[in-house]
Amino acid sequence: MRTAFIDTLIDNVLSGKGITRKDALELESLTREELDYLFEGTNRIRDHFKGNAVKICSIVNAKSGRCPEDCGFCAQSSKFETESPEYGLMDVDQIVANAKKAEAFGSNEFSIVVSGTAMTDPKEMATLKEALRRIKAETRLETCCSLGLMSKEHLQELKDAGLDRVHHNLETARSHFENIVSTHTYEDEVTAVRNAQEVGLPVCVGGIFGMGETFAQRVELAFDIEGLKTQSFPINFLKPLEGTAMEGMEVLDEYDALRTIALLRLVMPEMDLFVCGGREEVFTNHQEKLFAAGANGILGGDYLTTKGQDPKRDMEMIERLGLQPVLETEGARP
Ligand code: SF4
Repeated sequence: MRTAFIDTLIDNVLSGKGITRKDALELESLTREELDYLFEGTNRIRDHFKGNAVKICSIVNAKSGRCPEDCGFCAQSSKFETESPEYGLMDVDQIVANAKKAEAFGSNEFSIVVSGTAMTDPKEMATLKEALRRIKAETRLETCCSLGLMSKEHLQELKDAGLDRVHHNLETARSHFENIVSTHTYEDEVTAVRNAQEVGLPVCVGGIFGMGETFAQRVELAFDIEGLKTQSFPINFLKPLEGTAMEGMEVLDEYDALRTIALLRLVMPEMDLFVCGGREEVFTNHQEKLFAAGANGILGGDYLTTKGQDPKRDMEMIERLGLQPVLETEGARP
């Protein structure tokens, strides 16, 4: 077993030296036994930089389906025939009610997600701004929106209404992107992230793993996102949905998923790493392991187009591990 290699990796990250791209690529060859040893180290890194708090974020799919883009994993693309629900933007009361439900089960962040290339319609913008104002006035939640390829001007308007952060995934590595999406480019995604940063909004930027990318491409995405200096990283594992371009793919092996979380913790030791889509499918009854691998957050409640597990079960799991769900908004973010 390569304990010396792993010990040096962990020491380098804990001492602030970080991990080289070459060492990150080496993680691919670790055996299960070696990975279990690695997770003892990544658990220490998580504990050192993030303490025992587990952050829980929730989303509402406030507008679903009919999207002109062709992201191969997404049931909401109009290019695919799927069972995904289709509806226009919820009204203000519906969005606020969902936020209150998320707060009641312990979320400290609430993200409003809409389908589509970008939100530009003035009526929809007005609804969203009013919903943000009310969530800020009526709950203690931090607000987040995932609205696609947004302009700086629109993001500034939303920030003025109470938006605290933006979520925008890069989806996959630059070198794999055109295999997944053809209607826009990786550079468009990066521009959306930079637009949010330029108006002073922290950005939550992650991707989806298990879409046929190599481990080297996961390393590529990890270092690219590290370079963008973002605040948090949603880790999704592909759920191959019927009717999408990815319906024939297999769910990622549990240890490969854990290896990916560990890679991200080593490359971005101070990042908030949230495990989101695919958690139940990949880890089934072994979800505890994702915290040892390095995650310090989860998405609670339902996903965009599929059901999540009972939030009470999440709370029990977190407490059983001696970790603390973060219930307070104040001080929850750097
Ligand atoms: S991921 Fe977003 S942009 Fe891509 S098809 Fe789905 S809703 Fe549209």
